[in-house]
Amino acid sequence: MKLFIASLFALIFLPLVALYLPPARTMPYTITIGNARIDVTVQNGRLAVSEGESSDWVRSAAESVATYYGHFPLPHVLIRITPGEGKGVGHGMTYGEGGGLITIRVGAETTRADLRSDWMLTHEMLHLAFPSMREKHHWIEEGIATYVEPIARVRAKQKDASEMWYELVRDLPQGLPAAGDRGLDHTHTWGRTYWGGALFCMLADIEIHRQTENKKGLEDALREILEAGGNITHDWELQKALSIGDRATGVQVLTTLYDKMKDKPYQVDLHALWIELGVERDGKTVRFIDNAPLAATRRAITYGQTEAPAKSTSVSDSTSVFAGHRMRRGNSR
Ligand SMILES: [Zn+2]
Repeated sequence: MKLFIASLFALIFLPLVALYLPPARTMPYTITIGNARIDVTVQNGRLAVSEGESSDWVRSAAESVATYYGHFPLPHVLIRITPGEGKGVGHGMTYGEGGGLITIRVGAETTRADLRSDWMLTHEMLHLAFPSMREKHHWIEEGIATYVEPIARVRAKQKDASEMWYELVRDLPQGLPAAGDRGLDHTHTWGRTYWGGALFCMLADIEIHRQTENKKGLEDALREILEAGGNITHDWELQKALSIGDRATGVQVLTTLYDKMKDKPYQVDLHALWIELGVERDGKTVRFIDNAPLAATRRAITYGQTEAPAKSTSVSDSTSVFAGHRMRRGNSR
């Protein structure tokens, strides 16, 4: 009888006790991108989107990063989604712990359309593909994620090129040095960290293309750094990453530009640069000028060397197709 009473107690009270326990992880699911495994857990709480819609969101972000790098940056990552108040995605954080962890909040009222236009999860996943830096070099981590995110989504057919360039023209001025600036290594404002870092990346991307006659780009440098083991689970010195990047492109662009921008307020005439690239702001969009001096560089930056927007390419043995995108497998460049 004692056993019966204990069972009765368990039956009635344990579910009540469970209500007051901290939320447990529920609904785990796994996504596979090439050889990489992404485990997703959703903390207890209500979400308006279905599990299928949230997994489509994770898959799209992972595919955009895999498109840019040629493969997903790490063999295994855990994504912990916490439902929150209201609408939209926020509070993304990426860690090297356990081989790669991303925590991100999704508002309970978030719709499928909100997830389809989200950029934050792509930004967080891009952090996986670069080594952890010292505090004063935080700008390169945020700069790469900020600059590459829209390019990765354009290349994965998730975003329009005109939207990407419109946003660059609109947002990049926030990365220019203000009065009293002491260079990227010593000016830790929000603008210089995110957009100053993105400015470094764009200038480097343009210059690599210019010096290699559009044969190499920033992605060649970033892919080589990743292939050399430079991912978020490792602490590296910035100089080491930049040197490896330069070795991949064959031109000393990253280390030279870093010397110019690290401890001085390096000035950039963005207006002149947009004209050279053939990007003309037109209200809430941009017009592309195809006979601009750096128009070919603009196209190479946008679409990469392997894929032009309107050109059809055949699938060869060295490529694999998933989710409608043509991908280079591994480090096949
Ligand atoms: Zn970030």
